[in-house]
Amino acid sequence: MARYVFITGGVVSSLGKGLASAALGALLQARGYSVRLRKLDPYLNVDPGTMSPFEHGEVFVTDDGAETDLDLGHYERFTGVAARMTDSISSGRVYSNVLEKERRGDYLGKTIQVIPHVTNEIKDFINIGDDEVDFMLCEIGGTVGDIEGLPFFEAIRQFAQDKPRGECIFMHLTLLPYVTASGELKTKPTQHSVKELRSIGLQPDVLVCRSERPIPEKEREKIALFCNVRKEDVIAAPDLKSIYEAPLAYHREGLDQAVLDAFGIAPAPKPNLDVWHDVADRVFNPEGDVRIAIVGKYVQLEDAYKSIAEALTHGGMANRVKVNVEWVDAEVFEREDPAPYLEGYDAILVPGGFGERGTEGKIKAAHFARTQNIPYLGICLGMQMAVIEAARNLAGIKTAGSEEFDHEAGKSRFEPVVYHLKEWVQGSQTVRRKAGDDKGGTMRLGAYNASLTEGSRVAQIYGTTTIEERHRHRYEVDTKYRDQLEAHGLKFSGMSPDGRLPEIVEAVDHPWYIGVQFHPELKSKPFDPHPLFKDFVRAAKENSRLV
Ligand code: GLN
Repeated sequence: MARYVFITGGVVSSLGKGLASAALGALLQARGYSVRLRKLDPYLNVDPGTMSPFEHGEVFVTDDGAETDLDLGHYERFTGVAARMTDSISSGRVYSNVLEKERRGDYLGKTIQVIPHVTNEIKDFINIGDDEVDFMLCEIGGTVGDIEGLPFFEAIRQFAQDKPRGECIFMHLTLLPYVTASGELKTKPTQHSVKELRSIGLQPDVLVCRSERPIPEKEREKIALFCNVRKEDVIAAPDLKSIYEAPLAYHREGLDQAVLDAFGIAPAPKPNLDVWHDVADRVFNPEGDVRIAIVGKYVQLEDAYKSIAEALTHGGMANRVKVNVEWVDAEVFEREDPAPYLEGYDAILVPGGFGERGTEGKIKAAHFARTQNIPYLGICLGMQMAVIEAARNLAGIKTAGSEEFDHEAGKSRFEPVVYHLKEWVQGSQTVRRKAGDDKGGTMRLGAYNASLTEGSRVAQIYGTTTIEERHRHRYEVDTKYRDQLEAHGLKFSGMSPDGRLPEIVEAVDHPWYIGVQFHPELKSKPFDPHPLFKDFVRAAKENSRLV
């Protein structure tokens, strides 16, 4: 049976609940425990798959093909535990399940209510895999007091009651704002937030308080007194220079000890934090830096490419350089020459994306990188753009494009070197899609194998010819053009095991020019950087020395 830590937030959103949860997961692992992290989101979307990255940040994809909240990315990056479909749930999914059961007659004519039907659905979800790990960490999205969050708060209250005493604890994250006029950290918002929590039957065991300054003893005592926790269970969460400092910082503040105390685990096993010391050393002591441009559409919100930014950081750590990422709006190149914008970068990355907007700009960026010998990594749409660029400018297919663009234009303007995939093989099954299928989950999603060409650059980088990577796309490069493109130096060096779907292309007469149909960034960890990002940053570093 797992022990449960429920993590809630109060006062304001964006306090770093996901990061605190992930760091706690890492600290429990450092003490020898196995963990799994889970996210419960109160919004009504069934999953974040159809949510705009502008609003919600990136969609994180699991091996088993779930489109989830980006917090699952933090969980994986800090614990190395691969998240599953069953680690992310939203109100939308809960209600959808309940309504499906109601239609099927599973409730035998009963009146369907939030309590118990919705709360039971949530509790059943929380319980999945209960026997697999020592600790299950469940983060509730949003803040206490949100209307949508109530069924989740009620469900975790009941859940803790259902379990034997001492198997569930509650950790609450709040903010201690600093008021310059009085020169004080204010505890009142935290008091109110805890009061709100207690009014729905939840007493926090551990309080994590975000504050830009150290918490003076007097304030700590006050929080303990008014919030009904012990003084040692008031944990300061100062602002950090790097998120990868979080495990060490939280450990210093006593978070893992407070959690183990709350469970009554004594003596607590000693932590081994070597990995995190090494990670921090690499983050804080780089021996140089590189500049990498990410040419994309969602440049206004960095969270839209969260995993890519992190994977680049990991690549930098592996090469002992700081990676300075700059976001360049692809649409600018539709009107202007990219050269003045892209000159001076050590490498260029074109990330994934959907829709036609900005694509001509990305194609120009790919062209610039290819012709100027600048290291280029194209991810998903970024690979498709590299293929279109090569088709147009090397193979002479002047109108080369993607069916995705035609789809929006409503007429065929392009020769589709990238086409809408309608059928593919997943394990032993054939998956089929129609053009008009609904947008939720109709993509090729999750982990698929690819076979790499012996002797290719990517085979060298990976050190193997069989890989498994995560996918999220509807369109595919058409193998019809393979011979033509390969004759001009763009090799299809990675293919699906059945040889039908191009997974990787690489330019042979180029220092480093690689496009991948999958999302390598989703599997990179600070303590285990993804080979492609590691080598991409190495190439950027080499390039920076040349110029
Ligand atoms: N829009 C492209 C497709 O669906 C690429 C998707 C992506 O970059 N994730 O194939």
